[in-house]
Formats: sequence, structure tokens, C-alpha cells
Amino acid sequence: MKVLILSDFDGTITTKDTLVELLDIYAYPKWHAIAGLVARGKMGTRVALRKEFSLFYLPKNQYLSFLRKKIKIDPYFKSFVKFIRNKGARLVILSGGFSLNISQTLKKYKLGKMLFYANKLLFKNGKFEIVYTHPGNGCRQCGNCKKDRLLQFKKKGYYIVYIGDSVTDHCPVREADLVFAKWNLEIYCRKRKIPYILYKNFNDIKNYLSKNLLTK
Ligand SMILES: [Mg+2]
Ligand SMILES: [Zn+2]
Repeated sequence: MKVLILSDFDGTITTKDTLVELLDIYAYPKWHAIAGLVARGKMGTRVALRKEFSLFYLPKNQYLSFLRKKIKIDPYFKSFVKFIRNKGARLVILSGGFSLNISQTLKKYKLGKMLFYANKLLFKNGKFEIVYTHPGNGCRQCGNCKKDRLLQFKKKGYYIVYIGDSVTDHCPVREADLVFAKWNLEIYCRKRKIPYILYKNFNDIKNYLSKNLLTK
């Protein structure tokens, strides 16, 4: 069986959602009104992200120094990656955030090359510009619909493990073969009776997979 692990980035691989941290410092309290609309299902993340990032601006060098200082990853993620690679399974990151945040983090923690899909953040004339490079088929909610990505991999015959924590993970979980959920995503799965396993960190996931799925 070919196993593919699809993982969210912000708040799942990172200990805190880097976008939330950024917005709390530079766009507080205005961005909370937008987040409230998203939480109540009144606005998709595709529209919300652009609105939130129109509330403030940081030049690229300051943005990068914010990432270097603030981003921290789950303390067990690195050993999880090693475990996955040893088992011959694949890991792909699906993010509703920005490629820049992911590439900087992979570099900072020396995680090597990893395939990821995310949105593009541009710094243009004193404003952020967000480019949705992977528009979802039919999904008007997300900037980078993870369900679309998941289905593309599923067609290739993978058994799909999905790991996430929040709103951009709502679309894909119903299609995954095995779901690890925490925080907002756990509540979402529970309310909609989508089977999931609760986790706190990547060590929990590693333990579960080594006993139940990647046993050899
Ligand atoms: Mg997240
Ligand atoms: Zn979607």
C-alpha cells in the first residue's frame, strides 16, 4: 500500500499559526472581525486572507526577520519526517498560507527538500499582494483548496493520511482515509461525525502510525 501523509502547515507543523501571530501584532483588533466571519462560515479563507493582509504592510526584510524570530515547529516534527522517510511513505505539505513561510521554515530547521502547495505572497509598492496559484475546482471558499490536491493524489492510488488543525482543513478531511485532528478541526469533525484521531503533537501521530499503519 502506498501511503501519503498530507499535512497542514500553520498551527500543525508550526506550534502557532504564523499568520495569526502576524495579524495579532500588526492588524489587531481589526482582523478579528474578518476571522469571526470565517468562523461563522460567512466568508471563505480565499477572500478573508486578502482582506486581512490589506490591513497592514511589512517590507520583505522585516517580514523575513519576523519569520526567523517567531516561527517554531512542533518539537517532534523532525523525528516524524525521519520516521516517514524510513518507512518509505511520502509527506506533502498543503497550506492555506504562504510558500515563503514554508520555505523559510524548512531552511531554518534543515528539513531538506519537501513538496508543498501554498499561496504566493508578493511585496509590491508598499502593499501585500496574494496570488492564488492553485485555485480549487469548484471550491469558492479556499485560496488553495486542499480537497482538490487530496483527490489528485487519491487518484494515483495513495492511502491518504490527513493532519490538520483549522478552517483550511475542513474541505479535505471527508475524503481522507485517516484523519488526525486537533483544535478547530477536531470540533468540526466531531460535529459532522467525520472519524478522526485526536493528537497533540507529531509524536502522537508517529506512535499511532507505527502501531497501526506503517508497522514494517
Ligand atoms: Mg493550520
Ligand atoms: Zn476548499
